[in-house]
Order: sequence, then structure tokens, then C-alpha cells
Amino acid sequence: EAKAKGRNTLRFFDPVMQATLQARLQLENDLHKALAEGQFKLHLQPQVNAAGEVLGAEALIRWLSPNGLVSPLQFIPLAEETGLIVPIGCWVIEAACDLLLEWAQDPRMAHLQLAVNVSAKQFRQHDFIEQILGTIISKQVNPERLKLELTESVVLDDIEDTINKMNVLKEAGLSFSMDDFGTGYSSLSYLAELPLQQLKIDQSFVRGISSNPINAIIVQTVIGMANNLDIESIAEGVETETQFQFLKAHGCKLFQGYYFGRPVPAENFQVGTLHPITFMLGS
Ligand code: C2E
Ligand code: MG
Ligand code: MG
Ligand code: MG
Repeated sequence: EAKAKGRNTLRFFDPVMQATLQARLQLENDLHKALAEGQFKLHLQPQVNAAGEVLGAEALIRWLSPNGLVSPLQFIPLAEETGLIVPIGCWVIEAACDLLLEWAQDPRMAHLQLAVNVSAKQFRQHDFIEQILGTIISKQVNPERLKLELTESVVLDDIEDTINKMNVLKEAGLSFSMDDFGTGYSSLSYLAELPLQQLKIDQSFVRGISSNPINAIIVQTVIGMANNLDIESIAEGVETETQFQFLKAHGCKLFQGYYFGRPVPAENFQVGTLHPITFMLGS
């Protein structure tokens, strides 16, 4: 009887694998539902200059699931594999443009830049440019306020397509940041060929500034290279005064990290000058 059954049914003999597959299917269903029911939200993390003035923010997606707030690290990889990242990415761009529209009405916010993360699958869509420019034009957002963060893996996936798309979008007024710089395998030779405006030093290097001399050298080198290429340098994951001072002393232009502010719901986002030293004295 077991034999007969075995011939006609697909069976998983590895219970761990079966559980994993079931969890993935569940998550995929939940993500569809999240999109349909509007359970995604943007959190914003400030980006400041050396004086602590907020010049912009990075938009970071959050999923307000029925079971609580879910980090993008827990659903972006599956969303990428299943292709759901495409509609999710469209939602992010639309939500970012809505925020920029609100900011445009507020003299304290109108000058800010908003950076959004773009995943490889999303960027590779044949209609990516139409989608993003369509949203910008229909909402009448100033494209100069919008920055797209690409990772080295997005770029390397198809360099020619990447350069073409970046050029079209740059012509339209958008700007680009290379996210997580230093963690991928990009070669310096084509870095100069990309129409990039910003290099974002990965937080793994920033974290090691005082403990790992190699990391300190890498950070210094990347900042110097960005400055020489006329590309703005920004450090992510700045958590301490020591890291901030080191980065500043070596010519880093912008800073993002818990030291200046954690990602917060867009409605709680504060502008002005963030000066962690005064927070410390005050507390
Ligand atoms: P990312 O783009 O490199 O974003 C930086 C991550 O570092 C964020 O994690 C941020 O909350 C965290 N972070 C910022 N400052 C600090 C700090 O001082 N210390 C530490 N330990 N962490 C810090 P988050 O929000 O969990 O996002 C993780 C990743 O998920 C992002 O990395 C990005 O790759 C992806 N992601 C987030 N939002 C989106 C999105 O809308 N679309 C796509 N495709 N990916 C997204
Ligand atoms: Mg990013
Ligand atoms: Mg990053
Ligand atoms: Mg990162």
C-alpha cells in the first residue's frame, strides 16, 4: 500500500526541507496579502553633513504584519527570488514620491533628498525607466530630490544595461548612490565609468574603524578615491563619536547611522541639526 501511494504522490522525505518549503510558501502568500492590503511602510533614517545638518534620508521598507514589524532582511531575499520585489519596489517608489510631494509643501523639508533602495530584479525590468519616470511625472515630483541606491551586484549583473539606464535617469535629473560599497566585487576601472554621484561605504568597514587597522585603511582609501573622482562619500552604520571623527577627519562628506538617528516612521522624521554631543551632555 505504501508503495502504491509512493508512486502517485510527491513526498518529501526530509522533514526539515518540507518545513522550510512550507514556511516559504506561507511567507510568499503573506507578502502578496501585505501588498494587497497596504501593510508596507517606509521608515526614514537621516543623512547628515559634518556639521550634523540633515540633508536627506534613506527610505527603508518595513512590513507591519499582523504579527508585528518585520525587517526587510527577513522578506526582501524571498521577494527577490519570487519576483514579488517588482511590485513591492513599485510601491516603494510611489510611497517615496508621495513623501517628496509632502516635503515640497514644507519649507523646512523641500530641500531634502530621499534615497530609495533598488534591487537587481527591479532594476532589470525592461520598463523600469518608464515606471519610475511615469510615477515622477504623474505626481509632479522634482526628480532631483530622488536618489536611487544600487548595490555592486545590481551593477555587475549587466554593466551595459546598468550604464544605459543610469544615463537616461541621470538625464532626467535623478541621482545614484552605490550602496554597501566594498562588499561586492566591483572593479575600480568601471566604477569611474558609472554615472554615480555618491559612494556609500559599507557599515562593516565603518564598524571596524577603531578595532581593525585594515578596515581603517579601506575606509580612508575609499573616501580618498570618491573625493578624487568627484563622487560624494557617505558612511553608513556610524554608531560612535570615534567613528564620526575618523570619517570626518579623512574627508567623508555625509554620515548615516544610529549615532545620528535610527530609522523612524516617516511621520516622526525630524530635520534640523542633529548633534549627538549635545544629546549626550543633555542626558
Ligand atoms: P541598506 O540599504 O544597506 O540599509 C542600511 C541598513 O543598516 C538598514 O537596515 C538600517 O536600518 C541599518 N542601519 C543604519 N544605521 C545603522 C547603524 O548605525 N548600526 C547598525 N547596526 N545598522 C544600521 P534595514 O532597514 O534592516 O534594511 C536592511 C536592508 O534591506 C537594506 O540595507 C537594503 O538592502 C534592504 N532594503 C530596505 N528597504 C528596501 C527597499 O525598499 N527595497 C529594497 N529592494 N531593499 C530594501
Ligand atoms: Mg541602502
Ligand atoms: Mg547600505
Ligand atoms: Mg548594508
